[in-house]
Amino acid sequence: NEMHDDKLLHDLNPEQKRAVICSTNQSTLVLSGAGSGKTRVLTSRIVYLLKHFNVKPYQIFAVTFTNKAALEMRHRISQMLPGVQLNDMWLGTFHGLANRFLRIHHKMADLTSDFLIIDTDDQLSIVKRMIKDEMNANNFYTDKPKAIVNYINKCKDEGKRSTDIISNKENKFKQIIYTKYEKYLREENKVDFAELILLTKELMEKEIDLRIHYAKKFQFVLVDEFQDTSTLQMDWLKLMMDRDDENKIVRNCFMAVGDDDQSIYAFRGAQCINNIDEYLKVLYLERENTDHIIKLEQNYRSTNIVLEAANAVIDHNHSRLGKNLWTDIKNGEKIALFQASDATDEAEHIVKTIHDFNHRHPNIPLSQIAILYRTNAQSREFEQALLNGGIKYRIYGGIKFYQRSEIKSALSYLRLIQNENDNDAFRRIINFPARAIGKATLEKIESGANEKRCSLFSYIQCDPVLSKQKKILDFIKLINECKQRILEKDVPMELYEQALYIFEQSGLMEAYKKKQEVERLQNLSELCNAMKQFSQLYNTNDLTQYLSTIALDTTNTQDGKLDTTDEIERIQMMTVHGAKGLEFHYVFIAGLVQNLFPSNFFGNCDIEEERRLMYVAITRAKRYLHISYSETRSNYGQQETCQRSQFISEIPKGLLFENNENNRIYEPPKKKMNFIKHMAMPVQTGFITGKNLMNVVQLKEK
Ligand code: ATP
Ligand code: MG
Repeated sequence: NEMHDDKLLHDLNPEQKRAVICSTNQSTLVLSGAGSGKTRVLTSRIVYLLKHFNVKPYQIFAVTFTNKAALEMRHRISQMLPGVQLNDMWLGTFHGLANRFLRIHHKMADLTSDFLIIDTDDQLSIVKRMIKDEMNANNFYTDKPKAIVNYINKCKDEGKRSTDIISNKENKFKQIIYTKYEKYLREENKVDFAELILLTKELMEKEIDLRIHYAKKFQFVLVDEFQDTSTLQMDWLKLMMDRDDENKIVRNCFMAVGDDDQSIYAFRGAQCINNIDEYLKVLYLERENTDHIIKLEQNYRSTNIVLEAANAVIDHNHSRLGKNLWTDIKNGEKIALFQASDATDEAEHIVKTIHDFNHRHPNIPLSQIAILYRTNAQSREFEQALLNGGIKYRIYGGIKFYQRSEIKSALSYLRLIQNENDNDAFRRIINFPARAIGKATLEKIESGANEKRCSLFSYIQCDPVLSKQKKILDFIKLINECKQRILEKDVPMELYEQALYIFEQSGLMEAYKKKQEVERLQNLSELCNAMKQFSQLYNTNDLTQYLSTIALDTTNTQDGKLDTTDEIERIQMMTVHGAKGLEFHYVFIAGLVQNLFPSNFFGNCDIEEERRLMYVAITRAKRYLHISYSETRSNYGQQETCQRSQFISEIPKGLLFENNENNRIYEPPKKKMNFIKHMAMPVQTGFITGKNLMNVVQLKEK
């Protein structure tokens, strides 16, 4: 029959098929190892539901772990179902979906529709300011700002408001700041990451009708990377488990896919095993029932060698559900192991190996090669080496594009123009570029606005003295004129044109030009490029939507581009955490030394979690795997000897090909080049050419 003939099903094995076609009153958990096709099952299931079970896109709620994965999934589904309109389907990360929910129900959440999402950087500056204020009143504070931000986020992740926490001697100061912080965010119409989820869950709990509505609407809930769902996210899902159907309680249809061996967010409250048990319990599923729990055992991603190595490593863990993975891809290449003298040598060797590989396999795009490391800071050596080697790259994570100072300032203009009540944006730009507005004036504005209980921007417009001062008047005019121009419907401006217009009018570009800050100008140019790309991708010029999309883009690349197009010309670099769910032809795992990977930052290493990370890293490789370590590393400028990672010895010797001094493919560099050591890491110049700057110029001329 037609349902079972579907081409879609030809690409699946019997177990996968079973999961995809299972009936609509059956919930399932697909629990299986890396590369066994869990994500493929999830995608196919959605297609199958739409195609054969007459399910409507608006009935689907599907969660992925990254925005990149969500975009990819949407793309695949629309390829398989051309012509089907998917906008009504809720597909995204937990944060993205919570954002969508809160934009719709902002009134109930006591927010305006254009509420702003802030990142940890913003959180930090808010908390710093609060500490300063509080210090004037009390002098007993000892907590570091960062520790307070972590505390706040942790409380929220656990579902706790400041009022839920009993204050004691130890948390007293944190508690005071948390309370103030909560109040401040409310007043400012801002929402941090944890708040998105917490608020959504609370609202669904509080507003019974809302819960009933969504539980009835989303009859199909699908979750990828289920092992890393936090308790709070799980609580949210639970609110949608049952729907009320003609006075009968009916269970919605859930599908979760995950791998306990890839649980790598325990530190953020994801409790894999508990989650799975909880899930089974609330859905009345049984662990032993093979209709309820589907296990996939064939790995389609990696060669036998890669898989054997992964299996051997993870076998050292005790708390596992246990599984058997096998692959048909035989005769894999052995894993190359390289010992470098130091991190620079390691990076140079890897770059040479890439060069050589690229030479021998010109048909494999560079984007199929990835360098993975344990921490973002490790990327610097590779940037330098790739730059020297003339290889283009893309870095995920690290200092995010949107956290750069010039980008923050630029976006603050956009934010204030979009929402005059955004006091943080106001503070950032009122005297930037310099307008000779001094500290005394700023203090006057703060206290005046505080007294009048109005925003800073509206205060300067109504204060009888201030509003007459030329420099203040100019600023008011600037903001209002930009606003007018942007809203002008007759001559509509594209998003990036609006931005460019504002950057020019505000004097921001001029200021950077004067100081010849080329890199900042290039970044502004990149920002315009990224906005243009955004408009095309999402088919909108809506600033609010832009701001929330970028705020939620956790895979944030270094040039602000949303990564959707296959960038076939670039090596991919990211932390192991960032590589979850992805796959590459050739994978390099670098920096395999004790205390770095497994990491031991705070003296307490969760070795099993680190080992799961190593398992994730190894299983990203399809064909080739290269692992490396160095005998020494610099630590705060000091050379230190290192021990190679215990994970290397957990891989059976027979799978390794030792690439030591005697049979090095390349000569080690005789004399170290004198690299400029960058303290921060603004080095993204690898792919910035004058061209981008030219774009701005061309845009202007158009
Ligand atoms: P991870 O645990 O890393 O997230 P996964 O279980 O989600 O992995 P997928 O990414 O869905 O695995 O699949 C791994 C690779 O195997 C993909 O390239 C996918 O297209 C391919 N694949 C999955 N199932 C099949 C199949 N039945 N036949 C051929 N290829 C398959
Ligand atoms: Mg997957």
